[in-house]
Amino acid sequence: MTLHTLSHAQERDRQDKLAPYKNEFYIPANSIYMDGNSLGLLSKRAERTLHELLNTWKTLGIDGWTEGEHPWFYLSEQVGEKMAPLVGGMQGETIATGSTTTNLHQLVSTFYKPDGNKTKILADELNFPSDIYALKSQLQLKGYDPDEHLVRVKSRDGRYLQEDDIIEAMTTDVALIALPAVLYRSGQVLDMEKLTKAAHERNIPIGFDLCHSIGAVEHQLHDWGTDFAFWCTYKHLNGGPGSVGGLFIHEKHFGKTPGLAGWFGSKKGSQFDMDHKMDPAEDAGAYQIGTPHVLSLAPVIGSLEMFEEVGMAAIREKSLELTAYMLELVEQELTDANFIIGNPVDETRGGHLLLEHEEAARICKALKEDGVIPDFRTPNGIRLAPVALYNSFEDVWHTVQKLKVIMDEKRYEKFENKRGVVA
Ligand SMILES: *Cc1c(COP(=O)(O)O)cnc(C)c1O
Repeated sequence: MTLHTLSHAQERDRQDKLAPYKNEFYIPANSIYMDGNSLGLLSKRAERTLHELLNTWKTLGIDGWTEGEHPWFYLSEQVGEKMAPLVGGMQGETIATGSTTTNLHQLVSTFYKPDGNKTKILADELNFPSDIYALKSQLQLKGYDPDEHLVRVKSRDGRYLQEDDIIEAMTTDVALIALPAVLYRSGQVLDMEKLTKAAHERNIPIGFDLCHSIGAVEHQLHDWGTDFAFWCTYKHLNGGPGSVGGLFIHEKHFGKTPGLAGWFGSKKGSQFDMDHKMDPAEDAGAYQIGTPHVLSLAPVIGSLEMFEEVGMAAIREKSLELTAYMLELVEQELTDANFIIGNPVDETRGGHLLLEHEEAARICKALKEDGVIPDFRTPNGIRLAPVALYNSFEDVWHTVQKLKVIMDEKRYEKFENKRGVVA
């Protein structure tokens, strides 16, 4: 059977052990959703736990903090623990709290300790803007000029980073390193183990932004010795728009004083003593600041059940199969369309692909009109994320077929080549 037939795709779906999970999700009507790396879809389980928590508020009022199936007071710790296997964390190393950007602020406030000539923060020029804004403002707070003290490792080709270039930039004036685990445009997975080792040989603390990697690729943060990490839960973890994020603190840093304090960072048993002298938690719990956003944490509980059931190894395996299949089809079917593959084709690719084309903005509009939901990234990128838990091989097949028709018939020409407000 050849790769490019629909029946081949359907046969692969029949053999896919994760195929039944598609029914766990609400797929927007008449669409093929390829945007799970930007906003994951709602599952029935996430909807259920959201309703359960809403109901505890309805029926218990303030007693919901300590009663009901998911007492709110312990929820951040419990959800944190459920996220530990996704990042390779040990007991107490992970906590559900904040958002990506606020967690980065918290972690830089904690780990950035400029001293003498050691003042610089090392990042990269392909990093997500919010991370860069946060790093610059942290430098400013300490009285350093970001233009001089934020070092952004250059990409040789505008798509990827070379680990060796990053390591070369780990000079004696670097006080902290913050890098993405998976690049948000090209989907490149950085070698976090190698980078952690190199940073530690130079006595520099290092942390990673897992926004595009958590729920898509495996991590062994504890074993690698990585100092810290932070992430959101609304992309591959399907927690819903603005759902509560998470962070990881390596056990070797337990007992360290977080840069930003607040009463939810206290030991659980003494928080309500209301003493003005704080008694911080020993572990990652200490990095919480204020009252958890319980209703934005609620869907994450149900969503994580599926990750626990399936395990990251199976999710990564299917994700790689889906993206490999999509790459093969693009190669076979879209040879004349002048797409540039903007993601690594080997196994250093994450959970999404990037097709580059000068007409990308309006190709995305044509795809949407045809029921395929992609993600446009300026200036010329079409991101496509076939997600292991809710996309099928047939979805991938239809996506490429629809793209082929759009390109062959130049159907994108009726749209303006400009992006929308969000994507
Ligand atoms: C999605 C994403 C963010 C978003 O940060 P929020 O604080 O959740 O708005 C930040 N950094 C990266 C790398 C992302 O992919």
